[in-house]
Amino acid sequence: MAPTTAKTMAFKPNERNIFFHILTACNLSCEHCYINVEQHGKETVSRETMKEWLSLFMDPQKESNVIFLGGEPTLHPDLPFGIRTARELGYHSITVDSNGFLFHDFLERIRPDEIDYLSFSLDGPTAEVNDPIRGKGVYATCTENIRRAVEKGFHVSLIYTVSRLNIESLQLMPELLTRLGIKRFFIQVIGLRGKSAVDSTDNLQVAPDEWLSIIPDVAVNAAAMGIHVTYPKVFLAENEEFQCAGNVAENYFIFPNGRVYLCPLCEDFPINTFTIKDHKLIENPGLVEEKFFSLNIQEGCVMNKLLQPGNLAYDEEGNPTHRISCCLLKQEIQANS
Ligand code: SF4
Ligand code: SF4
Repeated sequence: MAPTTAKTMAFKPNERNIFFHILTACNLSCEHCYINVEQHGKETVSRETMKEWLSLFMDPQKESNVIFLGGEPTLHPDLPFGIRTARELGYHSITVDSNGFLFHDFLERIRPDEIDYLSFSLDGPTAEVNDPIRGKGVYATCTENIRRAVEKGFHVSLIYTVSRLNIESLQLMPELLTRLGIKRFFIQVIGLRGKSAVDSTDNLQVAPDEWLSIIPDVAVNAAAMGIHVTYPKVFLAENEEFQCAGNVAENYFIFPNGRVYLCPLCEDFPINTFTIKDHKLIENPGLVEEKFFSLNIQEGCVMNKLLQPGNLAYDEEGNPTHRISCCLLKQEIQANS
């Protein structure tokens, strides 16, 4: 196996990431879907709004990156227009996160050099694992479209959301990625958001010990096979500094109803820091997510403590046994060049 290097991807002060949900509609109904129509609405942004909001968030002084999301973003017939507009405006990188269905002839309407990454979500190495989570027939459609995209020359990446339903199968993914010709792999952790938060009786979250005993090893194996792997840090080592992205980075999670969050853990609540009104970014008064970011607690991320306290454990003296990192902090593993 090729030797690998692991590093924490520090937040970059000169970077701005725009997570642009251009609609909330989706053709699938995944077990862990984080879309919450009560909070995020059912709107689809119009072509004009897409352009206005892309301009609003573009900062030429910073490395501005946009990730088009949904729902399923390829259900929006104007997604190619959004991609070209983002390029014209000078966005540094453009990514599309799709469930693999690629509606409106997406692969025919966009050239591979017009986007930096086309990211597919797949939650199992086989239909038997993936389809009970994402829907019947999804594995076949998604893998077929991955093959087509790779063949056409798109830079394809894959997101695998780890839950109790598929953690045991993660180890089989590097081999599948190699067969499909995918060079980038993002292992995501299921959070208590959207459907998972509503249906808390059916807890799909993975225990800390399980996460630590499986994910890093799979990541190293994948990296040794030449795949670039990232996954959320989740637990901080003793010598690692805690940083809240809400304080030290610029991430905007934009929804079609105009809500703009700085922290994805807050998206189930009406505590968004900004709202887009009349084409302007308005800071909301009152108890919004921003107010929580400066609270220094022993456990690390304050929103994790408030929303997912089951992730925490304490010793006999009442001290947390581990600190939880910001959910946006990533660990990166790649083969040594
Ligand atoms: S593909 Fe994404 S938006 Fe659609 S149901 Fe699944 S998680 Fe939700
Ligand atoms: S996940 Fe926690 S640490 Fe990260 S931005 Fe949200 S509140 Fe801050």
